[in-house]
Amino acid sequence: TKEKGRNGYHIYRDEMQGKFERREILRRDLRQAVTAGELRLVYQPIGDVHTGAITSCESLMRWQHPTLGTISPDEFIPLAESADIISDFTRWAVESAVAECVHWPADIGVTVNLSACDLRRRDIVNTVFDVLIRYGLAPHRLTMEMTETALAEEPLMTRQVLHGLRALGVKTALDDFGTGYANFGYLIDYEFDKLKLDRSLIEQISEGSRARILIAGLARTSQELGLTIIAEGVERRKQFDALRSLGSVDSIQGWLLSRPIQGGGDIRTYLMQPHF
Ligand code: C2E
Ligand code: CA
Ligand code: CA
Ligand code: CA
Repeated sequence: TKEKGRNGYHIYRDEMQGKFERREILRRDLRQAVTAGELRLVYQPIGDVHTGAITSCESLMRWQHPTLGTISPDEFIPLAESADIISDFTRWAVESAVAECVHWPADIGVTVNLSACDLRRRDIVNTVFDVLIRYGLAPHRLTMEMTETALAEEPLMTRQVLHGLRALGVKTALDDFGTGYANFGYLIDYEFDKLKLDRSLIEQISEGSRARILIAGLARTSQELGLTIIAEGVERRKQFDALRSLGSVDSIQGWLLSRPIQGGGDIRTYLMQPHF
């Protein structure tokens, strides 16, 4: 009926308005998130496919908003990017992740996500250098992750930043590989240490599937290029078995192994336990 249609419209409008208001609140409050101590990192373990040993943990950002609760990075990172304050967030993340990692066993590293904006500014290299020196962390224990989309924006500066990070001895990872157009150009042009196969690929890896053949080829080629291959978003035992049987996937990350864990005592206790 007409009545119903109007209600539908009103609900839609209220919802749109609600979303808009929420975004405006977040955008406003984001500016003080770092100084107010509302950001934290959680750590998701990455394990060796063959030995089960934890090799590193990915740091993932969370924002504890004073009234709206925990906000996911998928929601606030784009806002921080558009508000041009992402580099403050990244600086905070590098420092927090490194400060945490020095308390872990020496064979376990940590990864930090970079956004496109970070790759446009040379000072990320200075930030990383300064933090590594201050905390005394061996540079190879830190990995910086970046996506193809982030790399696409300013190739010249990006190249300098990547080169600068590698010169420090920091590792680099190409994140979310297999989403979008999986541009091989980046693997040719840049020397990454690690390649992270996206969850959307791993989801399709059932026995005999086309994705499985593709992943097998990708992993083998990447291995020949000297890259460490990490499968992301591994949720089920069957996926794990399929990945392990390929032989060329080195590590897995996903709920099957562990959800992200709070920093401090929680992650330290987890990492001290044997994981076989
Ligand atoms: P990402 O870098 O691809 O991180 C992996 C995401 O997949 C994380 O979501 C993680 O919690 C989730 N995940 C891990 N294992 C599984 C699984 O088995 N199944 C499923 N369904 N999901 C899994 P999260 O923490 O919500 O982060 C989302 C995205 O936000 C990240 O994707 C990254 O792009 C961005 N992000 C997170 N932390 C930071 C940060 O510190 N800086 C920047 N620039 N971006 C960040
Ligand atoms: Ca990542
Ligand atoms: Ca990823
Ligand atoms: Ca992702």
